[in-house]
Amino acid sequence: MEELLRRSEKLKTVGQLAAGVAHEIRNPLTALKGFLQLQQQGNLLNQMHVTVMLSELERINFIVGEFLILAKPQAIKFEKKDVRDILREVLTFLDSEAHLYNIEFVTIISPQSCYVACEENQLKQVFINLLKNAMEAMPDGGSIYISIRKWHENVKIEIRDEGIGIPEDVMEKVGEPFFTAKESGTGLGIMVSRSIVHNHHGTLEIISKEGSGTTVNLLFPLCRDEQLGEVL
Ligand code: ADP
Ligand code: MG
Repeated sequence: MEELLRRSEKLKTVGQLAAGVAHEIRNPLTALKGFLQLQQQGNLLNQMHVTVMLSELERINFIVGEFLILAKPQAIKFEKKDVRDILREVLTFLDSEAHLYNIEFVTIISPQSCYVACEENQLKQVFINLLKNAMEAMPDGGSIYISIRKWHENVKIEIRDEGIGIPEDVMEKVGEPFFTAKESGTGLGIMVSRSIVHNHHGTLEIISKEGSGTTVNLLFPLCRDEQLGEVL
């Protein structure tokens, strides 16, 4: 679980990495463009120019390759898990940090089992990302309400905070890669969470009002056995 928290914070590194990658690629691109402009102006390129261009292209190819390895998710196996257990574990894990900020978790947990076909660590990552956002939205402390229940053929999870909320004009940008309204935010938490939820055939909906709080609704289909062993 510490690993997940670390990863949530490490998203910061990914952001810096992306900026770095863009920068690294821009240099060889500029060189390539320069050579092509020379050619266009009638200064025919010689063998040495072409060699340099090829090596610059090779550099771009290398950088992109490295980034792809990093970004590529490992094959993931779906298992039948009770989401109540996963959520309880995450809440226990975050409890001391919440206390530190005068925040309490108020839970309503279904007495019925809530089985979902999932990759446990990925769902934990989603809960950590969303709960951290809720906590960060309440600098003066308060309560975060978390409920989990069966709803038709789904499991519905609601995470509601009474924090600063999201202004309407900001709302449309939330979830875009690298969009953050925080000084040291990454702007990757919602994007990553949404992508995990979609891979689990679920939905993630954000409802918010500036000044009064934010609710995130998650919906996952109840586990059907044929989903088990599915590989992403
Ligand atoms: P980060 O937390 O690094 O900023 P996220 O993708 O997790 O990146 O969130 C993007 C933005 O969405 C946040 O910067 C914030 O403006 C807004 N946001 C997300 N969740 C909440 C919330 N519970 N309360 C208020 N704003 C939120
Ligand atoms: Mg976040």
